[in-house]
Amino acid sequence: MTVGILAIQGAFVEHKRKMSALGAPVVEIRQARDLDLPFDRLILPGGESTVQRRLIHEDGLFETLRSRILDGMPTLGTCAGLILLAERIEGEKDSPFPSFATLSVSVARNAYGRQLGSFRTVGTFADAGELPFTFIRAPRITKVRESAQVLAFHRGEPVAVRQGNQMGLAFHPELDADMGVHELFLSL
Ligand code: GLN
Repeated sequence: MTVGILAIQGAFVEHKRKMSALGAPVVEIRQARDLDLPFDRLILPGGESTVQRRLIHEDGLFETLRSRILDGMPTLGTCAGLILLAERIEGEKDSPFPSFATLSVSVARNAYGRQLGSFRTVGTFADAGELPFTFIRAPRITKVRESAQVLAFHRGEPVAVRQGNQMGLAFHPELDADMGVHELFLSL
């Protein structure tokens, strides 16, 4: 097993450290030729989703990654990575750089308000139990369609979902010591 980490922008190093700590080999995906590397899992890190989306298209990564996600490659998207997976981004229509749109949720970017833009809390995450949730200018999951299942809530709102082999989280497990989410991802 080898984990491809989208490494064009954002917090990919932290995911890489987690994977190394769990003994999973990693390759960094930056440009079209990296798609030939032998990876069978994918991590889409936090960062700035508008920049990531543009680069995914400009660097020729979009079609291949999207079809591999749709084919069932286990994929973990955190924060901006969740936005990349989301089927719908509130307030957006006909972007020249569409998201992968493989995960049946709607998200609203930067939706936790100024005061609460970044915060930490603790929550229950599916089978991994209690763990820290770190939110940084996080997207809010505004709609979860039937094919997706909620893995975690914060104040009654969904903050993590799973659909088949895709997991999308509004928060950043890579920034905390807990390994639960990454272990779960490797078990998909
Ligand atoms: N606010 C960012 C965006 O909309 C996501 C923030 C993050 O990944 N920490 O792209």
